[in-house]
Amino acid sequence: MEDFIKKTAEYIVSSKHVVALTGAGISVESGIPPFRGKGGLWEKFDPMEVAHIDSFMNNPEKVWRLLISEMKELLVSAKPNAAHLGLARLEELGLLKTVITQNIDGLHQMAGNKDVIEFHGSFAWLRCLDCGSREQTVEVDLSHMPPRCDCGGIYRPECVFFGETIPMQDLDRSQIAASTCDLMLVVGTSAIVQPAAFMPVIAKQSGATVIEINPEPTPLTGTTSTLLVQGKAGKAMRKITAEVGRIIAEKQR
Ligand code: NAD
Ligand code: ZN
Repeated sequence: MEDFIKKTAEYIVSSKHVVALTGAGISVESGIPPFRGKGGLWEKFDPMEVAHIDSFMNNPEKVWRLLISEMKELLVSAKPNAAHLGLARLEELGLLKTVITQNIDGLHQMAGNKDVIEFHGSFAWLRCLDCGSREQTVEVDLSHMPPRCDCGGIYRPECVFFGETIPMQDLDRSQIAASTCDLMLVVGTSAIVQPAAFMPVIAKQSGATVIEINPEPTPLTGTTSTLLVQGKAGKAMRKITAEVGRIIAEKQR
């Protein structure tokens, strides 16, 4: 792993336009379980049952209770970990331009990243299914399920459920980021959910180097990605960021 950490840091420093694509795995060390993999929510629930728009529309109370209320406890208390902070530091250094995240937890913004594309929306805001008014999740009484707007309509989170399309603006911006970067860091994603998983493919086809950070190989490994830094995101990013700092300091001497 140490060799790959060094190589990744060298790639980052010598690139002109770095973009990161992140998934649920980057937030595992912040206490938020992923969907797939060990300890994932899918060991407990059927994903298509809880995270599909049809299930939500058919039985919002059930979906709110099962998945979203379970995640909410974790989401309100979660703090960014070393991986989020490392990406924020890389942006501060002018090396990282954009984070495309599949996560809905807001931890990249909390860590300090300014340019974050929330590919699957966010849990921070809710929208009324009847009148369309929006409210911050923290302002809504979630003790009654499903939560309701003053008009009596049911609130939905402003995230993208399975079966829904990615908002055009986010998809466009992500495709542009992927096709213009020269290095894409793919952190903590199983690279199975489309079209997010296609962003590294676009990057590769446009001539970029793709590096993954994940304890497990993914469908991108060895095909789209040049390197897999095999390990936890927080631990790996802390080392990578330190190495980037060391290389920069050495150059300035
Ligand atoms: P996923 O759940 O399908 O896969 C998680 C990936 O993270 C796996 O490849 C796993 O090996 C890896 N992983 C586990 N621990 C890790 C660690 N410590 N460091 C780095 N990697 C680690 O995640 P996905 O690819 O993002 O797709 C699932 C969908 O679920 C996404 O669309 C996302 O919107 C949603 N989701 C979001 C959150 C969140 O907001 N934090 C949490 C769960 C699911
Ligand atoms: Zn309403």
